[in-house]
Amino acid sequence: MGTRPLLNRSLAGMGTTIFAEMSALATATGSINLGQGFPDTDGPAEIAEAAIRAVREGRGNQYPPGPGIPELRHAITEHQRHHYGLAYDPDREVLVTAGATEAIAASLLALLEPGDEVIAMEPFYDSYAACIAMAGATRVPLTLRAPAFRPDLDELRAKVTPRTRLLLINTPHNPTGTVLTPDELRAIAELAVERDLLVVTDEVYEHLVYGPATHHPIAALPGMRERTVSISSAGKTFSFTGWKVGWVTGSPELVAAVRTAKQYLTFVSAGPFQYAIADALRLPDGYFDGFRADLLRKRDLLADGLAAAGFEVHLPQGTYFITTDITPLGETDGLEFCRKLPERCGVVAIPNAVFYDDPEAGRSQVRWAFCKQDEVLAEAVARLRRL
Ligand SMILES: *Cc1c(COP(=O)(O)O)cnc(C)c1O
Repeated sequence: MGTRPLLNRSLAGMGTTIFAEMSALATATGSINLGQGFPDTDGPAEIAEAAIRAVREGRGNQYPPGPGIPELRHAITEHQRHHYGLAYDPDREVLVTAGATEAIAASLLALLEPGDEVIAMEPFYDSYAACIAMAGATRVPLTLRAPAFRPDLDELRAKVTPRTRLLLINTPHNPTGTVLTPDELRAIAELAVERDLLVVTDEVYEHLVYGPATHHPIAALPGMRERTVSISSAGKTFSFTGWKVGWVTGSPELVAAVRTAKQYLTFVSAGPFQYAIADALRLPDGYFDGFRADLLRKRDLLADGLAAAGFEVHLPQGTYFITTDITPLGETDGLEFCRKLPERCGVVAIPNAVFYDDPEAGRSQVRWAFCKQDEVLAEAVARLRRL
């Protein structure tokens, strides 16, 4: 095989994620894992039952339709209308994907050409960099800087070049918890219209926003419907991250483009789970309010504990992550800190440096997930007090 590296050069250096390393460390040391962001309690029992029923009744056990089953596509349009007043045609403007992850990959592969530039909010969710690279495009970071983690809109404007094709935004933002304000969204939308840019927006935490912040889809703003691919997923909202049911909404032209890439990635996925998520999206508002209230309580529990342990806490407006700074503890390097933390006190967290192109930018930041049972969070907080 000669001397040529086996791994495609666009993926060079993207070996194993920090999540694999830290989760293995958690298992090896018996630590509480606040690293990877998945809930330790499953979603609603009636939704799990709906999936079981679909399997038993033979609904979705064979290849479902490419764009997704009609029941789910209708439920997605009802959800967009009910929560945001956005109207989509379930036949031409909705696409069901294998989680938001496939929606991101298919959107970027479909819409980008080699040489294009993508401006993305940094720290980045880890698949963004890989998918932009696989599409042969170049990522240009718009860095959210501590302590406020707001986008600098003048900097954004200055970063648009004739090669810029697409803005990749994520609100609520993982890992900082930033929720873009109506003013920020308006400025981004105006720039996209003025410079004729596409927007891909990752809104998987749309239902995890803590007052007074509120979630606003950028697709609702003037001139945005025809240039925005909106992405969401059932994993975070319904606490079934293993089901991998996601979706895209957008104009017929954008959805057709994304569908073209998607059909050669997975073709289809998760047949019976699609029926169950159609039911989940139609749950009464009480479900969404209760879920948010539950996570808000957990956020405050962990935030108070982290502050008591001596961390500088950046209280998130959304998502189920808290970013902290370790400087007040006399520490400077988050990666080193996270590697030693399991041994020091039996807790696992993630160093934010891995989400930056310039690791210096996030060097002293560490991320903690609070989508865990109250007892688990309380025990983690007790252990962290030993620091
Ligand atoms: C979890 C997550 C995803 C992936 O969602 P899936 O539906 O599990 O594929 C995408 N974007 C962000 C910001 C996430 O946190």
